[in-house]
Amino acid sequence: MAFEGLADRLQQTLQKVRGKGKVTEADVKVMMREVRLALLEADVNFKVVKQFIAKVKERAIGQEVLESLTPGQQVVKVVNEELTALMGGEQSKIAVANKPPTVIMMVGLQGAGKTTSTGKLANHLRKKHNRMPLLVAADVYRPAAINQLQTLGKQLGMPVFDLGTDTSPVEIAKRGIEKAKEEHHDYVIIDTAGRLHIDEGLMDELAQIKEITNPDEILLVVDAMTGQDAVNVAQSFHDQLGLSGVVLTKLDGDTRGGAALSIKSVTNTPVKFIGMGEKLDALEPFHPERMASRILGMGDVLSLIEKAQTNVDEKKAKELEEKMRTMSFTFEDFLEQLTQVRSMGPLDEILGMLPGAGQMKQLKNLKVDDKQLNHVEAIIKSMTKGEKLQPETINASRKKRIAKGSGRSVQEVNRLLKQFEDMKKMMKQMSNMQKGKKKGGMGG
Ligand code: GDP
Repeated sequence: MAFEGLADRLQQTLQKVRGKGKVTEADVKVMMREVRLALLEADVNFKVVKQFIAKVKERAIGQEVLESLTPGQQVVKVVNEELTALMGGEQSKIAVANKPPTVIMMVGLQGAGKTTSTGKLANHLRKKHNRMPLLVAADVYRPAAINQLQTLGKQLGMPVFDLGTDTSPVEIAKRGIEKAKEEHHDYVIIDTAGRLHIDEGLMDELAQIKEITNPDEILLVVDAMTGQDAVNVAQSFHDQLGLSGVVLTKLDGDTRGGAALSIKSVTNTPVKFIGMGEKLDALEPFHPERMASRILGMGDVLSLIEKAQTNVDEKKAKELEEKMRTMSFTFEDFLEQLTQVRSMGPLDEILGMLPGAGQMKQLKNLKVDDKQLNHVEAIIKSMTKGEKLQPETINASRKKRIAKGSGRSVQEVNRLLKQFEDMKKMMKQMSNMQKGKKKGGMGG
C-alpha cells in the first residue's frame, strides 16, 4: 500500500514521544532528525522537507507543546496539522460553473491514467453529485484513446462525443461543448491528447483548447509512482497552462508517497482526486487531513464510513441486524455480506483505515487474500438453497458434493462450516450483551 514505509517510520518515531509527560528540546531534535530522514526516504522534495521540519520544530519547541500538560500528544498533533497543511489543508473541491455546463479539461502525459481518470471522474460526478457529464474524445494522436473512451462510456452508460481522428482537437473540444449545451449536460469532460514528454506542440495545442473552451477546471493527471518526476511535470504544466488541480493516480500501488506530499507545496496546485485502482469506481476526493491521519496511524474512519455508505444498502443493513438479533442469519446472508464488503475495495486497504491498524502486528502479517475469499464464495455457491438456510443438514456425503462442486477440499468445507457456527455463537453473545445493556436502562 502507498505510504507504507513512511507511515511505519513516522509512527515509530512518534510512538517514542506520544506518552511522554515531559518532552525536552533535545527530544524534539532527535525526533526531527528521524522525521526528516523518513520524509526524504519517501521521496518528498528536499526543499519541502526542509520547510516542514523547520515549521514543526519551531512549534514543537514552543510554548504550545513544551508547557502543555500532554507534550507528547501535542507533538503528534503538530506533526499531524503540518502534514495536513503540506497537502493543502482543506479539501479542494471540484468546480461548479454558475452557468452549466462546467467544463473540465483533462491533461497529462501518456500512461499517467488520463483517459481512465476521465471515465472515473464522470462516474464520480454521476454517483456522488447526481450529474450527467458528456465525455469528449479529443486525443486524436493515439487512435486507441478514442476507442478507449468510447468503451468507458459504454461501461458507464454515458455518451461520448468524438469526431474521429481527422478533426483538430480544438474543433472537437469546441463542438463537444456546443453539443453539451444542446443536450443539457451539466459537465463536459474533455480528454485531451497526451504525449510521451512535454513538448511545445502539446502545450500550444492545450493552450488553444483552453483559450477556446474557457474551462472551469484544468486537471492534470499524474502517476504517483513516478515520484518527483510527477512533481516536475506538474510544475511545467502549471507554468504553461495554469492548472486548477491534480489527479494523482496509482496510489493503490506501493508508491512511497513523495508526490502526494510535495505537489501542493512545490506547485501551489492542490491534489483534488486520487486514483486507487484500475476500476471505474476507484477514484476518491483527496482529503489532506484524512490522508495525514492515515499516515500517522490515526485511522481514517470518515472515509471508511463514506465507503460503507456508497456500497452498503441501508435497508439491507437493517434487515441484517434483525436477522442477527433473531438468530436467523444464514449462509445466503453471509454471501451477500461478503459481496458487499468486497465491493468496498481490497480488504487490506479497508483495514488500513482503522485507527491503530498499522500498529497491530497481527493485522500486518494478515495478508487478506482475495483468493481465499473467492474459495469461500465458491463453497457457499455450491450449496443447495436448503443447505444454505440449514447448514446443520450438511452431512458427510453432502460435504463431498460441495467440495467437488467448488473445487475445494472437504477440510475447507468443514472449516467454513465451523467458522460459520462460531460466528453465529458470537452474534448470539453480542445480541445478549445488547439486551443486557438495554435492560440496564441506558436509554436505548
Ligand atoms: P493515459 O495514456 O494517460 O490516458 O492512460 P490510461 O488511462 O490509458 O491509463 C494507463 C494505465 O494505467 C491503464 O492500464 C490504467 O488501467 C492504469 N491506471 C490508471 N489509473 C490507475 C490507478 O489509479 N491505479 C492503478 N493501479 N492503475 C491505474
